[in-house]
Amino acid sequence: MDFRTIEELDLKGKSVLMRLDLNVPIKDGKITDDTRIVKALPTITYILERTNKLAIMSHLGRPKDGVRDMKYSLEPVGAALSHLINKEVVLLGEFEQSPSALFSQLTEKQVVLLENIRFWPGETKDDVDFAKQVTKGFDFYVNDAFGSAHRAHASVVAMAKCFPEDRRAAGFLMQKEIEVLEKIKANPEAPFTVVIGGSKVSDKIEMILNLINKCNNLIIGGAMAYTFLKYQGKGVGASRVEDDKMDLVESIFRNAESRKVKIHLPIDHVCASEFKEDAKPVHVERDSIPGNLMGLDIGPASAKAFRNIILASKTVFWNGPMGVFEWPNFAKGSLEIAKALADSKAFTVVGGGDSVAAVNQSGLGEKIGHLSTGGGASIEFLEGKILPGVKVLTR
Ligand code: AMP
Repeated sequence: MDFRTIEELDLKGKSVLMRLDLNVPIKDGKITDDTRIVKALPTITYILERTNKLAIMSHLGRPKDGVRDMKYSLEPVGAALSHLINKEVVLLGEFEQSPSALFSQLTEKQVVLLENIRFWPGETKDDVDFAKQVTKGFDFYVNDAFGSAHRAHASVVAMAKCFPEDRRAAGFLMQKEIEVLEKIKANPEAPFTVVIGGSKVSDKIEMILNLINKCNNLIIGGAMAYTFLKYQGKGVGASRVEDDKMDLVESIFRNAESRKVKIHLPIDHVCASEFKEDAKPVHVERDSIPGNLMGLDIGPASAKAFRNIILASKTVFWNGPMGVFEWPNFAKGSLEIAKALADSKAFTVVGGGDSVAAVNQSGLGEKIGHLSTGGGASIEFLEGKILPGVKVLTR
């Protein structure tokens, strides 16, 4: 994929409008995980070494379109960013003509952060007039928000199009994400193992079908495993099952068979009699689950079997937890998978918010090849879709 990169732009002394994904989790006004801000720093620093005329945009959460709900203010993000880059961050809630008009009044120690871009009604509508107003007077557009690249919103698409093609480019994080996921999608070294978990088969069907064309092993855990086990006629008790998605499961088995991809399902389970955090975990030592129990995590024998497959692979991609990893009693399976990826010598990539959270919970993030910052975006990329935010940067 040939897209323009930030190193190709001559930024010296010029004004830059940059889209970032600073959509960090905030609890009681405090940022609980600043990974997304930290990951944006290389591109911010690169720009600030060449110019001090920088305005940053991001969304935060899902405020109702165009509603200024201060619960979603970027104020805490601005404070954290200011600390990290050692500059004053001027939070811009409103502007008359364009945010670029502010540069004449700023000192070298100040950068601009627009308030949550979803506070403006034009953002989610990909509104061209809104895009023209924001971009007026800027020399360059840089997008480093891979996590938002699957959304055709104004700050991702319409604003990019307001610049000539040679004045818009991808930042370093966007470049890395595309490069890594492209390798997974197009050119993975065999044996290639795909580990999929999470709640629903239907959310990930396109991605699974696309990856089956390239992988050698498909490991399935999480709630979606019970739909597969039920399809095979195994007992699933009271586990979460998508009964109306058996046709999708059948198409996965059919495709896997014709491509000689081996599908691996859990052979034991950690169950409970109710869906509750403090429910007593019960180990079911076979693949069938009795009627009164529901599977909430893969069991130790499954974790061991999956680990051996991962350790024998050269490329591993993981998306979706193996169980209800948010609850300590049912997190072990996901943590074991994180550990297997960390111990493996393969090129390892973890995509999707929950599996990245499981890796971070395990403290093994440093040992993983790449932790993708884009949940939905990485899934759509691996489905084979061309993301609108990437398309506008390609030549
Ligand atoms: P997804 O967003 O599709 O990757 O799904 C992640 C969610 O799936 C997490 O919130 C997990 O708690 C949930 N999950 C994983 N395994 C199970 C399970 N066996 N039963 C119910 N929920 C599960």
